[in-house]
Amino acid sequence: MTADTNEDGFVATRFGGCRCGAVRYELRGEPSVVGLCHCTDCRKETGSAFLAYADWPRNAIRIAGEFSTFQARSFCSVCGSRLFHLSEEHAEICVGSLDDAPTGLRPAREGWIIRREHWLNPLEDTLQAETDPEPSTVEQHAGETSEIGMIKRKLQETAVRAHSTDQSKPPAVEGERRKQNRADG
Ligand SMILES: [Zn+2]
Ligand SMILES: [Zn+2]
Repeated sequence: MTADTNEDGFVATRFGGCRCGAVRYELRGEPSVVGLCHCTDCRKETGSAFLAYADWPRNAIRIAGEFSTFQARSFCSVCGSRLFHLSEEHAEICVGSLDDAPTGLRPAREGWIIRREHWLNPLEDTLQAETDPEPSTVEQHAGETSEIGMIKRKLQETAVRAHSTDQSKPPAVEGERRKQNRADG
């Protein structure tokens, strides 16, 4: 037992919370996964171009204060800051809600890169997944669940495949055929 051990044995290694301070949390140990997600749901809910997240086991977090939750994603009821996604097994933290900046955490994977803004470069030595990184340990990254996400996915299916033919090889015959079939031009 060290001096900073609480009576229940919880030793916090990181602290975080919302912008206004109504919600505070403590984390124990290091995250099992750190990643970026560019999916439509993460863009919408963060209001930003992507989400940076880190997963801890559910019992590694202690939370104080009142928060609201929409479709498993929680935020401060007062200031609206995005905070975490809690499941039975995991506590997925929005990296930006941690107190230390920079955090020292480095993403090991990037998901939904088909949605990545073109002014963002892929992170070197990082798993790049067109959609969901595999294996997906986090429920909310198991796909875009919102209606917008699904509609967009359908709409962009063609565009994405077309884009992948641009990269190194000359357009395949299939790409040409698809162009002719595209109604949106
Ligand atoms: Zn707040
Ligand atoms: Zn996402």
